[in-house]
Amino acid sequence: MTTLQDCRARDAQDPLRALRDLFTLPQGVIYLDGNSLGPLPKSAPDRIARAVQEEWGQGLIRSWNEAGWFELPQRLGDKIAMLVGAGAGEVVATDSTSINLFKVLSAALSMVAADAPERRVVISERSNFPTDLYIAESLCRERGCKLQLVEPHEIAGALGADTAVLMLTHVNYRTGAMHDMATVTRRAHEAGALMIWDLAHSAGAVEVDLRGAGADFAVGCGYKYLNGGPGAPAFAWVHPRHADRFWQPLAGWWGHAAPFAFTPDYQPAKGIARYLCGTQPILSMTALECGLDTLLAAQPHGGMAALRRKSLALTDLFIALVEERCGGHGLGLATPRAHAERGSQVCLTRDEGAYAIVQALIARGVIGDYRKGQPDILRFGFTPLYLGFEDVWNAVEHLRQVLEAQEWRRPEFNRQHAVT
Ligand SMILES: *Cc1c(COP(=O)(O)O)cnc(C)c1O
Repeated sequence: MTTLQDCRARDAQDPLRALRDLFTLPQGVIYLDGNSLGPLPKSAPDRIARAVQEEWGQGLIRSWNEAGWFELPQRLGDKIAMLVGAGAGEVVATDSTSINLFKVLSAALSMVAADAPERRVVISERSNFPTDLYIAESLCRERGCKLQLVEPHEIAGALGADTAVLMLTHVNYRTGAMHDMATVTRRAHEAGALMIWDLAHSAGAVEVDLRGAGADFAVGCGYKYLNGGPGAPAFAWVHPRHADRFWQPLAGWWGHAAPFAFTPDYQPAKGIARYLCGTQPILSMTALECGLDTLLAAQPHGGMAALRRKSLALTDLFIALVEERCGGHGLGLATPRAHAERGSQVCLTRDEGAYAIVQALIARGVIGDYRKGQPDILRFGFTPLYLGFEDVWNAVEHLRQVLEAQEWRRPEFNRQHAVT
């Protein structure tokens, strides 16, 4: 049996412990939802105030050059590249995940249409995050392609001579199950298809090696594990072997080779810059940089490898404590136990009351979230930058109390909010 003292001892020996001080977290909150919205970096309010008051207020339009505004998508892209196994100059921070997915899937379909027009099927997972499927459905309709949705174990068998693109999310948002990126990418390529990865629940959460896997395209989210703030810019990566081949469809002036030449015709910029569209949200970019810097602060301590080790230790501990201390309450485990198959979250299932249990936990300051399904899911994200082993103990203790006292049956925990 694990004790509270064991958890405290592990915190005392944790080399990443001090990184918690990089964040402003409310008193009395155990935040297990960094997979949905990362917390506020302590540096962000002052940095954003400086961008507003000095760069915008005093610098005015001069700040596009003097404050480095114009290069922000690339500068932030280079920082993201360090977290996902990409090279400098291969990533841009821009737009939203949904929009970036539209751009890269469209470019991938153009590539396939030129090289192998008989390939007209996009394969994805039925349990992929819906926006990814909606974007794919709409593009397929426009291009006369077909979207084929399969279960994870059916992916390899579904790949064939008609497959244009395999488009997957690396870590499943509901279950936390993680694909083996290198193996799946190899299978897609062996079948002659292109591989797109959505890293929304991977970037900043698990080690990712896009170059090593030889993937073709990737997108990811700025406001989850990258701590960029609500609605933060997302990112796009294209393998350099493809970057200069096709226009992406949102061919705006920021992706032009010479935006300030103001020519009437479009000439795409070399490389990843062509994946930009229009003027970027500089204040949001500024906040995202603060978020990225919290992750890069782990570099001297072993970087993503060290963060991943601690994340696995936290999720292992959470699973073990739930099983030791919350048995007999009808909880199941939706997240794979094998480390290689698990992201940085743990999802519990329960036939009844999952929403209300999450609400009762939130009232106690343990913030996770709920995802509807068969069965319903209680989702807990574990971010090694600011969570410790004692936090895990306390979270499970609250869960135990909510279940034992049937606190979740109270009416105030059974009213549905708009955002779950
Ligand atoms: C969070 C998430 C998104 C979010 O897309 P937005 O365009 O930022 O709303 C997209 N895809 C996946 C897989 C996600 O987990």
